[in-house]
Amino acid sequence: MNFSRKIPVGISQCAMGDAVRFNGGHKHSKVCTELLGQCFDYVPLCPEVAIGMGVPRKPIHLLVEKDGAPVDAVRVIGVDDASVDVTAPLRDYADSVVPELQKVRGYIFMQNSPSCGLRGVRRYLANGHGIDSEGVGVFARRLQQQFPHLPMEEVGRLNNNELRENFLTRVFAYDAWFRYVESDHTGDAVAQEDYNSADKRPGISGRPLSFLARVIEFYTAYKYLLMAHHQDKTRALGKVLADAKSMSEAELAFEVRGRIMDILSRPASRKDKTNALMHSAGHLSEFLDKREKAELKDLIEDYRVGHKPLSAVLTMLRHYLPRSPHSFIHSQVLLAAEPAELGLCDFS
Ligand code: SF4
Repeated sequence: MNFSRKIPVGISQCAMGDAVRFNGGHKHSKVCTELLGQCFDYVPLCPEVAIGMGVPRKPIHLLVEKDGAPVDAVRVIGVDDASVDVTAPLRDYADSVVPELQKVRGYIFMQNSPSCGLRGVRRYLANGHGIDSEGVGVFARRLQQQFPHLPMEEVGRLNNNELRENFLTRVFAYDAWFRYVESDHTGDAVAQEDYNSADKRPGISGRPLSFLARVIEFYTAYKYLLMAHHQDKTRALGKVLADAKSMSEAELAFEVRGRIMDILSRPASRKDKTNALMHSAGHLSEFLDKREKAELKDLIEDYRVGHKPLSAVLTMLRHYLPRSPHSFIHSQVLLAAEPAELGLCDFS
């Protein structure tokens, strides 16, 4: 599969196969470079090298004062020499790359690193005893704060098909949001000139629309995909949009973007996907004869019980799609090619 436009994604540099680790080695991930590299244009960064620690270098780890310390109450110090403290340089470096990372639509971090780990990083007391595994790498944590909705995942977890598919879904959605709704991303703050409602720009359908109309059109196109991830939260988002006129455009953009990314971060269950597929089939049923309806119903049931893949149902729904004149069902992202069909989920 050749992707005409690759999506910019940040990545821990050692995952690219570059020998930047403390021991002079790398942690090359073929899933990242060979599989996801088909659709991602990587921005590789190694914070520890960037702050001048060199290769090879003495190891560092996360220090906390006591058990249960908050995630930000850590220092990154030398394992052998506690006077080496690189906490501030790592945080400052993260702040310095924020402008460069405005363009990325996802970030892949190396696990278990006091700089890059996203979860479960081992934390230590001053006496050298490991106290818990509740840490987050200081560089990764700072980027979480700077880009609260940016899809993030760890290299190791991307070896899992479901987690990889979920990360891809989030990156595609985040990328689409910035192409069709907001034109730029400046961390928490969004440039005010993006929010001139008189400024009509192409939405997801390509038609020139006001900002609010672009948000609603985006939500509408993603509705069944969102429902496949979390029905209640999708309905709650619909209510937010119904009251959208009372919100400033910057508030609305932040709120809706955050809710969409939160909903998509929950892996879609087969049950919820089945429900969304049945809703989609419902839009087409008036255009199907009795035999076709029964065949589609049976296929969705086969998917529900695990006898048929999702792609089989999507293929049949897409086959019947041209019969409907209604734009709502044609716009559904759920019915577009999914990561597995793009060849991005199978790797051997
Ligand atoms: S985990 Fe992060 S800091 Fe460590 S070598 Fe990889 S990119 Fe560099």
